[in-house]
Amino acid sequence: MPKSKKNAQNNLLARLRQDYPDLTFMSGDRYLFHPPTTIQYVDADDYLLLLHELGHYLIGQNDYNQDVELLQIESAAWAKAKELCAKYHLTFDESYAESRLDSYRDLLHYNSLCPNCSLNGYEDEHQTYHCPLCGASWQGKYQAK
Ligand SMILES: [Zn+2]
Ligand SMILES: [Zn+2]
Repeated sequence: MPKSKKNAQNNLLARLRQDYPDLTFMSGDRYLFHPPTTIQYVDADDYLLLLHELGHYLIGQNDYNQDVELLQIESAAWAKAKELCAKYHLTFDESYAESRLDSYRDLLHYNSLCPNCSLNGYEDEHQTYHCPLCGASWQGKYQAK
């Protein structure tokens, strides 16, 4: 990581600790929001992911019943990260956010494929997929976070 990025995150952390006194920011091995109020960050890494996790806290929705809702939540957290970048005068990287979302999209697509006949299934309210062709059903394999 370039040093400037590390400094950007350190400066940001100082600001966030002031602006969100109820939150606990702690360093760890990956970026993660632990509800209700803990945000874990990686030392010397990426302020965009830090703001994304803060975005998860701010949108206040962690539960989902369908894989597609997870994609909506992820996308909302990135929209928040973009707002926060503007607020803290940091550069937002649209293509980075899109590439993160793409990996979710790929996974959702993979989840939706029938293990029997590879047709696209549809998902019910309980993260179970059903194949309209052969009638197979299977669980959404995506694990949150
Ligand atoms: Zn996320
Ligand atoms: Zn099938």
